[in-house]
Amino acid sequence: MEATLKGPKYECLLFDLDDTLYPFSVGINLSCRKNIQDYMRHHLQIEENQIAEMCVGLYKEYGTTMAGLKALGYEFDNDEFHANVHGTLPYHNLRPDPLLRSLLLSIQQRKIVFTNSDKAHAEEALHRLGLQGCFDGVICFETLNPCNGLSESQICTLYKDETSANLIDLNEPVRLGSKSPILCKPSIEAMEAAIRIANIDPKKTIFFDDSTRNIASAKAAGFHTVIVGRSSLVPGADHALESIHNIKQALPEIWDGQDRSESDVVLASSAVGTAVVA
Ligand SMILES: [Mg+2]
Repeated sequence: MEATLKGPKYECLLFDLDDTLYPFSVGINLSCRKNIQDYMRHHLQIEENQIAEMCVGLYKEYGTTMAGLKALGYEFDNDEFHANVHGTLPYHNLRPDPLLRSLLLSIQQRKIVFTNSDKAHAEEALHRLGLQGCFDGVICFETLNPCNGLSESQICTLYKDETSANLIDLNEPVRLGSKSPILCKPSIEAMEAAIRIANIDPKKTIFFDDSTRNIASAKAAGFHTVIVGRSSLVPGADHALESIHNIKQALPEIWDGQDRSESDVVLASSAVGTAVVA
């Protein structure tokens, strides 16, 4: 009982990628939706007048449109799908974000990206944002779905942020037991998988995401939760951040016990409200 009161309040921070580490206004999200619809039209021969409604319905029911298409029985290669959907995204709109980089590097706890997107997109986006080496690892589509969901005893490893100098114990294989064809947020199974893969205590982990349903699921899984991109709380959220840049104002306790000199410089330079990455 006493032991739970000792040590840092938070041991790990889990960050969604898209529309969390950069703002929705960048346009990646809308381009991604358009590319998914194009893929459904040209590769799966789905009727034009059904596509928009299908996308919304499948996204709501299965977590991602891709997961829903698989659940409906559409057969396609996951890598081909991701290449089509992410291959033509306006990555040039993602600019280096030195303020966020400084903030992340000033945080001593483990920091892990937890995204439904594939590894190639995650790497490209983090590279464009100038955030290489800021994270201890990346949990992405391939991490959660290493065998396209075909194996009942899947073995997953967390992808390392290759340039990080602070890699910790992330090679331990983890067995997943989900029966879902595609494992992704917001399912509680995906949350539990992330907990196992990263070997974290959700009660000592902060979960950042722009999705209200991901926040609700993360709260159900026991995480401390932060909705990003909104100024007001949503169900299941403990904090709300209009911008990830405001993390220190909202959650100064992350830096408790650290040397103030370095992090205060970061705080002063990052107090820019909701400014879009310049
Ligand atoms: Mg997101």
